[in-house]
Amino acid sequence: MMATTHVFAGLAAVAPVAVRFPEFATPLAVGAVLGGLAPDFDLVFTHRRTLHFPVVGLAVAVPAAVLGTVAPSSPTLGAAAFAVTAWLHAASDAIGGGPEMDPWNERTERAVYDHVRARWVRPRRWVRYDGAPEDAVLGIVLAILPLAVFDGWVTAAVVGGVAVSLVYALLRRRLVAWTPDWLE
Ligand SMILES: [Zn+2]
Repeated sequence: MMATTHVFAGLAAVAPVAVRFPEFATPLAVGAVLGGLAPDFDLVFTHRRTLHFPVVGLAVAVPAAVLGTVAPSSPTLGAAAFAVTAWLHAASDAIGGGPEMDPWNERTERAVYDHVRARWVRPRRWVRYDGAPEDAVLGIVLAILPLAVFDGWVTAAVVGGVAVSLVYALLRRRLVAWTPDWLE
């Protein structure tokens, strides 16, 4: 899925918490945005492995969420939003396609790495590839709740993110033709 879809999923997940604790809306939003983006910084290492924790991530996300609920503050809720969104990102990569540039060719069976079982989880391909039409639709649906709950820069970021998603989804298959072979 697109980075924006992961960010919108995190913002949608923390939106009800922001309704309950409006004074902590900003740390919740910052945590969700960073948690949605952070795992994909492993593009320069082993993508979908180095910074993706679909199983271990849950063991961090649950206590972080509990701590945030018991002792709500900017640091605890920001950290909880980050941990939950980063886990959600890694876990949901399993329902997407492979990590290659042209996942629609179904060349690999690697969706995301499970560090506990020390093996790759196979791609379910409910969302066939990042930037697929269903990815764009999913992103827009996930953006609705954050748009209703947050305001200010979060609204601007979500609107901008939706625009970027749509352009990316329109150009996605052409990007491969523009990518030099050595990058694939
Ligand atoms: Zn990812």
